[in-house]
Amino acid sequence: MTQGDYNNPLNDHSTFSFDCHPGISCFTDCCNDIEMTLYPYDIILLKNRLNIDSEAFLAQFTSIEFDEGCWFPHLTLKMSDKDACPFLTQKGCSVYEDRPFACRAYPLARSVSRACSQDAQQSKYYLVRHDYCRGHDASRQWRLSEWIDHGGMKVFNDMNAQWISIDTILKSYPFESTGMNMKFFRLLFSAVYNLDNFRLLIDDCILPEMNISNELIETAYKCDIHLMAVGFAFIHYCLTGKTPEKD
Ligand code: SF4
Ligand code: SF4
Repeated sequence: MTQGDYNNPLNDHSTFSFDCHPGISCFTDCCNDIEMTLYPYDIILLKNRLNIDSEAFLAQFTSIEFDEGCWFPHLTLKMSDKDACPFLTQKGCSVYEDRPFACRAYPLARSVSRACSQDAQQSKYYLVRHDYCRGHDASRQWRLSEWIDHGGMKVFNDMNAQWISIDTILKSYPFESTGMNMKFFRLLFSAVYNLDNFRLLIDDCILPEMNISNELIETAYKCDIHLMAVGFAFIHYCLTGKTPEKD
């Protein structure tokens, strides 16, 4: 059973007890039968860790999910035939240094209010408990900021803030009434999730009036983080007619 204290978000002064380590009786129990959303930055880290391109990663490890009333999907991690995370081994997580945000944050969950402006996005953290997780029995105490540092979550929060800005625009865009076609939908999908494919399309789809700097575009040919920024700027321009700085 899962319990999240969603009425009481943690604050900078909150502490919680937790410890997780190989040898604990529940080790890796949390890596089975999970529904985990993968964010664009998670996908970059994982596909590079596995040394495969984004097309292969998406085909092998993700499921496409549409929330009710939403025309743009989110991706979830596909479980193995044994209903376990595909990266789980007998020794533990095989991608630990590059594990997704949700694995780093656990036993915390993070909610972020949707807003196009990153400054307007408000985040909250909540403590989540699963009956099987013995980590809560530990005496070790954590402050929220310590857990964020411990999990290396700050860079994920920064990257995910960029994504939330774009996702906010995508979620509010009236797909059907604009006559957007499937070719364009696939282009947007590549710009978010299938970056190795999007890289091949940059020359054709990034136009001078989009005001995306040449320096950023040049770097994007070699760096997935910059490529993600180009992809987001591309979507922003296509759906709003403006560059992000001009909002
Ligand atoms: S303590 Fe909790 S997070 Fe750690 S391995 Fe056990 S179930 Fe997973
Ligand atoms: S990525 Fe690693 S930590 Fe996360 S669920 Fe899979 S095996 Fe567990």
